[in-house]
Amino acid sequence: MDFIITFLGTSSGGGPSESRNCSCLIADVVGNGNLWMFDCAEGSIRQFSIHYNEKHRLQPNKLTKIFITHMHADHIMGIVPVLRNILYPPLAVLDPDRPPKIEIFGPAGIRTFVRSILKMTHTKTSDRYVVHELLTHTDPITPCGPSDLHSSELAGRDILCTLEDGLWRDISGARNTFTGTELIVDAGPIQHRDPCIGYVVRELTSPNRKLVILGDTFDPSGIIPLCAEGSPPSLLIHEATDTHIPVDVDFGLSKRSPETVLQKTLDKGHSTPGMAGAFARRISAERLVLNHIGGRFPSPRQSGDNRRRAIIREIEQQATKAWGTSGRRAIAAFDYMTVVIPFHEPETGRDRERSQRYRGQDAASNAGREPNEYRRYRDVEMSSPSSSSNQRRERSEYSEPHRHHSDREFEYSDHWKKRRRDY
Ligand SMILES: [Zn+2]
Ligand SMILES: [Zn+2]
Repeated sequence: MDFIITFLGTSSGGGPSESRNCSCLIADVVGNGNLWMFDCAEGSIRQFSIHYNEKHRLQPNKLTKIFITHMHADHIMGIVPVLRNILYPPLAVLDPDRPPKIEIFGPAGIRTFVRSILKMTHTKTSDRYVVHELLTHTDPITPCGPSDLHSSELAGRDILCTLEDGLWRDISGARNTFTGTELIVDAGPIQHRDPCIGYVVRELTSPNRKLVILGDTFDPSGIIPLCAEGSPPSLLIHEATDTHIPVDVDFGLSKRSPETVLQKTLDKGHSTPGMAGAFARRISAERLVLNHIGGRFPSPRQSGDNRRRAIIREIEQQATKAWGTSGRRAIAAFDYMTVVIPFHEPETGRDRERSQRYRGQDAASNAGREPNEYRRYRDVEMSSPSSSSNQRRERSEYSEPHRHHSDREFEYSDHWKKRRRDY
């Protein structure tokens, strides 16, 4: 089965904005319909409902795990609405042996955060949830005694990082009994202005794909040991909150110097696209998606939105240049963008090289045939000579999952199209 990653929110903490919700992405990696969520900003449950796809619609009640990178509000304020949505109204009699419907993993504090809001809002549900905290050796333990728990909560694990490298290994996983696929999740500390975690999803069975999903960071090197074990990461999702855009690209509207932007980005604990590209190079990532995009860089909305398109393209080029992997191109995420990591990678040699090149081109030319907002900034490349019909035929699933999965293609109803135009 292919891995399918859908971005429900791609804004930095300055959002939500008119074109982006804040951080939330969905990984469909188990292959049995279960979904895993990484971060859960305010409005994430609504992002599900707006994700209109009749044939491959994401449904909150398919969520079985939520992984939280850090406690900043733009990453966690949607958790309680998600729980309320999927745990259902209370039954008259609760079954004490009922297993948790959803597991939440996150740093110290996430258990108290969820528990206290559920208590304060008098929330009662029939299904249960559980929170497992990833703790360092200095973090306090949040008790899970009978008098501490919320009525919908089961006692979670307190998972201590290893003393040697500060990593949390094998915190979770899944096995698809039908396909035989086995996954485990590891986590590692990454540097942000407050404690932050990156997650690594590893496939133990062939083809041994690996996803590296980072929270906010200015230095994720703490997670490198997990990236280096086994096969290189199939996909790195790295934040790129801010950057300097040259005068000729943004028509001189930005007065900020490159040095000022870099310093401010670092001061806030964030990264530039160049830093994301450099890290992708360091861990030999095979794909790079830039996420957590600053409010200065909204997604293009209309076909004539050339300034936004040019800026997003510039961001992608900065990361691609620092990445320096021939034939591959970094992609700036936008809400509802989907990335597919195929079960069968292209052949090695010339075919693979060509396919990789098309991946980059396709990713930047995700337009023209998509009846939704995805066509936005991709129109520019679609009109270029590189977008030949031959290349389109060979286009990879990397950037056009909806096309790759023809049986699950994205199809907007007429009603929906009308709504989009009304914006
Ligand atoms: Zn953030
Ligand atoms: Zn943050």
